[in-house]
Amino acid sequence: METQYFNAVKQPEAGTKLGGGVIRSGGLVAFPTETVYGLGANGLDGEAVNKIFEAKGRPNDNPLILHIAKKSDLKDLWKSVPERARLLMDEFWPGPLTMVYLKSSRVPEEVTGGLDTVAVRMPDNRTALALIRAAGVPIAAPSANLSGKPSPTTAEHVKADMNGKIDVIIDGGPCNIGVESTVVSLMGGTVTILRPGGITREMLEAVIGPVNLSPAVLAPLKQGEAAASPGMKYKHYAPDAQVIVGTGSLPDMAAKLIAEYDRREAEGLTCIIFATEETRCFYRGKRYVIIGERKNPLTLCESLFAQFRAQEGKADVILCEALPETDMGLAYMNRLLRSAGFKTI
Ligand code: AMP
Ligand code: MG
Repeated sequence: METQYFNAVKQPEAGTKLGGGVIRSGGLVAFPTETVYGLGANGLDGEAVNKIFEAKGRPNDNPLILHIAKKSDLKDLWKSVPERARLLMDEFWPGPLTMVYLKSSRVPEEVTGGLDTVAVRMPDNRTALALIRAAGVPIAAPSANLSGKPSPTTAEHVKADMNGKIDVIIDGGPCNIGVESTVVSLMGGTVTILRPGGITREMLEAVIGPVNLSPAVLAPLKQGEAAASPGMKYKHYAPDAQVIVGTGSLPDMAAKLIAEYDRREAEGLTCIIFATEETRCFYRGKRYVIIGERKNPLTLCESLFAQFRAQEGKADVILCEALPETDMGLAYMNRLLRSAGFKTI
């Protein structure tokens, strides 16, 4: 199949108009959102949704998120809309918050991996919203990468993974959050974070009071344990290189990363350190890139996946710094630990 490209800046209408038609007729369209690029299909058409799993090589039991352009569309996709959902969507939609609740009969089981709940969000991106409106249906979309690879934050990343496999790619420039949306479950009368993201625990709690954090956010599932969010079962966000996370106080952490660097280089492996503005002074004489500022974890989230992809075919080992697990540091650590297969030193 030949993939058609549109630039959302130079041709703001062409891509979303044609893309909307492609979605309606059962095809696949990659589009920008504020978090990462999504790979969209008609969310009410099970057959179309199956093509997403095929193109990504994604396990069928890993459910997708439905993207809507109007808050009022939520009621058609859920059995009912609980009060806490109204509070959260009034505050955070459009934005990087996905809510999981009991699905209505309109939602095909291909979207939910057979679960009786469905995840929904309203993205904060003009092109994404225009595409959903043009399609006239909710768009089911996971990230537009091959399953297991880092999520795409530019149209070039999407092209690298999906060229020739999907109908359309709309290029809206780099994504500004860089990690996927926060996923919360509203089941059981509470709010539980299944995956941290651009809407932080602190922001949620300011609106709704205490929220739970699924233990799978920062630790691997124990053997035989059921995943609250099926995505957490799988190795995720992984570049070709081995990722290792250094922990501890700044000088200690840097010393551990440098010792590991020297050990691996002595074995003939090529290492690189993902440094920050605050820690660059520790790594003089080593190979490093500065990926953001520790004091502003959003900058690290924004560049992490792109930096992983930039090392493809270059580094064998990527040495990264742990951050405190607060605010956007929680989303950063969730992605980093999964990329590392939870390998810390
Ligand atoms: P992705 O589309 O790759 O960003 O992944 C979507 C994430 O949302 C995955 O981690 C899923 O496991 C999670 N998710 C989607 N639907 C549900 C659901 N019904 N219940 C729990 N988690 C869900
Ligand atoms: Mg994904």
